[in-house]
Amino acid sequence: MQFQYWNERIEKMPRAELEVLQLDRLRAEIGFALRTPFYRERLAAAGIAGPGDIHSLDDLRKIPFTGKSDLRQGFPYGFLSIPRHDVVRLHASSGTTGIPTTIYFSRDDIKNWTDNMARCIYGAGCTKDDVFQNMISYGLFTGGLGLHQGGEEIGMMVIPSGSGNTARQFKLMQDFGTTVVHATPSFLLHVETKMKEAGVARESLSLKKAFAGAEPYSEDTRRRIEGLLDIDVYNSYGLSEMNGPSVAFECQCKDGMHIWEDGYIAEIINPDTLEPAADGEVGELVLTILCREATPILRYRTRDLTGFYTEPCPCGRTHRRLRRIRGRSDDMLIINGVNVFPSQIEEVIMGMKEVGNNYLIVVEKDGAMDRLTVKTEIGEDIFMDDSRPLNALKERIMQTLQVSISIRPHVELHEGGALPVSEGKAIRVQDLRPKDI
Ligand code: AMP
Ligand code: ZN
Repeated sequence: MQFQYWNERIEKMPRAELEVLQLDRLRAEIGFALRTPFYRERLAAAGIAGPGDIHSLDDLRKIPFTGKSDLRQGFPYGFLSIPRHDVVRLHASSGTTGIPTTIYFSRDDIKNWTDNMARCIYGAGCTKDDVFQNMISYGLFTGGLGLHQGGEEIGMMVIPSGSGNTARQFKLMQDFGTTVVHATPSFLLHVETKMKEAGVARESLSLKKAFAGAEPYSEDTRRRIEGLLDIDVYNSYGLSEMNGPSVAFECQCKDGMHIWEDGYIAEIINPDTLEPAADGEVGELVLTILCREATPILRYRTRDLTGFYTEPCPCGRTHRRLRRIRGRSDDMLIINGVNVFPSQIEEVIMGMKEVGNNYLIVVEKDGAMDRLTVKTEIGEDIFMDDSRPLNALKERIMQTLQVSISIRPHVELHEGGALPVSEGKAIRVQDLRPKDI
C-alpha cells in the first residue's frame, strides 16, 4: 500500500524525540494554564508554581485530573487563558444545555486544529481531487466545522450539507460527484436504506470513502456499512473539550486510530483506582491538550473506555493507536451522535408538577437510527381517560425535553404505579441497543 503523510517528519518522529517535544509543549501549556483562575489554584495546591516544576513527562502525574464538572463550574470564562479579544471562536459539547462546556479558540488554535484535521483526512488517503460532503451538524458541535476546515486545508471541494435530509444528500452527491462523506455510523446505515427506498442506484454515485464517528460503533457495523455502500470507512474520534475531531483517526490500514501525540498526552487509567492501566489494557482515556493557548485543559477524564495497541502500525507512523471506543465509564448516553445525560431528562420531567414519581428512559434501535422514549407516570389529579389534557401534557414534555437535550423524544404517559419499581437501586435507563462492540 502506498501511504501518504501530511507532515511526515512529525508523523514518523522517533518516540524519544516525540517525548522531548511533548515535554516542551507541556511546559508551555502549563504556562497558559497558570493564567486561568481554575488552574492557578489547582496547580498551586499540587506544588506547581511554574513550568519549571515539570522536569519530566512523569511529573504530569502530580497534576490532578480535570472533569466535566470542573469545566461547568468554571463557566463561562474560568478556563480562558488569553484576553477575550484574542478569542476568534467558541464551541460546545453536543447536546449540552444549561451550563455547557465551552471551549475557546485563538486564531493559532484554529490553525493547529485545522492542521491536525488535515493530517487525519490526508492520512486516510484523500487528496485535493476529492469532493467531500460533510453530512454532520454544523454549529456549536465541533464535527461540522472541524472536518470542514481540514477538508479545505487539503484542497478538497467541501460541500457543507449538514446532517439529515437524505433526499437532498443524494441529489448533492449526484450533482457534484461526491467521493468522501462524513457522518455518524447510524446515519450511514440509514443512508443505505434510504438509497434503496429512493431508488438511487449505487452506480449513479462516485462514493469511495466515509469518515464515521461521534458515537460508538462496532467493527461489524463498519463492515456492514462498507459492504452496503461499497466504500472504505475510517473511524474518527474526538471530543469538544479536546478541540473535537482530529484527536485520533484511522490511517489507510483501518486498524486503530493514531492519536496525535505531538498535540496530546494520552494516558489510560483504571477508572476505579485511577491508577495507570497496564500496557495495552483497556481503561479510561485521559487527555492533556498541548498546543492550545486559549483553553488549556490538563489531564481531562474523557470517560471513554479504550486502550493502546502495543504493536507498531505498518504505515510507519510512530504515534500510538487507540482501540475502538468500548463505552463510557459514566452514564452518558450517545443518541444519534448527541450526548445526553439521564440527569438532564430527570431534571425536566421531575420539574413538572403533572408528572408522577416514576419514569423510565428507553433507548432502542429504530432501523439504523436510535430512538429515545421517555415513559413517565402521571400525577394523581390527571385521568387516563381524558385525552385532551394528556395529549397537551405529552406535547409539553416533548417540547421541554427537546429544548433541554436537543433531541425530540417519544413520550409515553402511564398511570401512577404502572411503571416497574425495582427493589434495589432504581433502574431508570434501559439501553436496548445491541452491544456488539
Ligand atoms: P462531543 O464533545 O459532543 O464531541 O462528544 C464527544 C464524545 O463522543 C466522546 O467523548 C465519545 O464518547 C463520543 N465519540 C466521539 N467519537 C467517537 C468514536 N469514533 N467512537 C466512539 N465514541 C465516539
Ligand atoms: Zn497507521
